[in-house]
Amino acid sequence: MAAESFTFEPESVTRAAEIFADFAAEMGFCTEMRHFEKAGCGLVVSTPGTDGIPVCFVAHLDTVHPIGGFPDLLKPGPEGGLYGPGIVDCKGGAVIALLTMLALRETGCSRPLRLILAPDEEASNRLTGEEGIRFIQEYAKGCQAAFVCECGKPNEAVVERKGITKAQIEIRGKAAHAGMYYDQGISAIREAAYQILALEQESRSEAVTYNCGLISGGTTENVVPEFCTYSVDIRYRTEEEGAKALEYLKKVITTPHVPGACSSLHILSTRSPMPRSEAGMALFETIRSAGLKYGLEYLKPMANGGGSDAAYTAAAGVPTVCALGMTGWDWHSIRERSEPGALVRRAKLLAAAILELDTH
Ligand SMILES: [Zn+2]
Repeated sequence: MAAESFTFEPESVTRAAEIFADFAAEMGFCTEMRHFEKAGCGLVVSTPGTDGIPVCFVAHLDTVHPIGGFPDLLKPGPEGGLYGPGIVDCKGGAVIALLTMLALRETGCSRPLRLILAPDEEASNRLTGEEGIRFIQEYAKGCQAAFVCECGKPNEAVVERKGITKAQIEIRGKAAHAGMYYDQGISAIREAAYQILALEQESRSEAVTYNCGLISGGTTENVVPEFCTYSVDIRYRTEEEGAKALEYLKKVITTPHVPGACSSLHILSTRSPMPRSEAGMALFETIRSAGLKYGLEYLKPMANGGGSDAAYTAAAGVPTVCALGMTGWDWHSIRERSEPGALVRRAKLLAAAILELDTH
């Protein structure tokens, strides 16, 4: 069944969660919907009547695609996989997790398994806020491992992700006639230009980056611009690096280059980093050896500049590896499509890795 689920249309995400829950219930799993005020519903699927240390899977049911944006909702892709909104990011990953749970249950695995599906991952959990993070952590806590089924590439798993802070800066100057009173004007745009250069010149891809991705200001050509606003997306490897980057941003905006310009800062969202850890690397090694043992994939550990919910399971003290879901191409575009065979291959990989985990 095809169901679009755009993050910012919560009813559509809830509908996708309901369809997924019905499907999981038909397979004999327990399902639990979680309601949020501003986002669609979250969903947890779990195996009943099991014992041992649980493991969890994490994915999300929202996509970046507005409703009606795709010419076809679900059809074979040109390479032989599947084409459609969220096939790779991240509904395919949710299905991989469910298949893994089914395969393990059918082969007599008694370990508790749970799949946590977030409703607003694509908005950096901005709609569910702290409550959404708690929802993920509540079910992840105490698990021996978290397999985050975000989209990825064949032969790669992500062991390190950057944190992201998105902010908006508003600058106020003073309007003046560009010919008659030029010297009396305070250009908010000129101040923004200085600030953006001061921020971006500190960017280092291997550490902190500042990307000023949106800007608007001014009223017309012959007026010194009184207002300007721009956004900055800061990415960092550790919380400490993120705190320093934010301090630097504050310093830049409170020491104006254009005398009289006044700036204010609004934090739009923050997402924690997932720093590389010993526990995460140990889990990665288990998955890699399972992949090799069964001739499925030769995984390399990757660092990724993009954030994901993996940061929250890792922060809850659960060994976490990310990007274990569907592999494919061009996600976040209308060309989104999966790699043929990825769904079954990744489900086999996860099932094999869980069987390899030391249960003691
Ligand atoms: Zn995703």
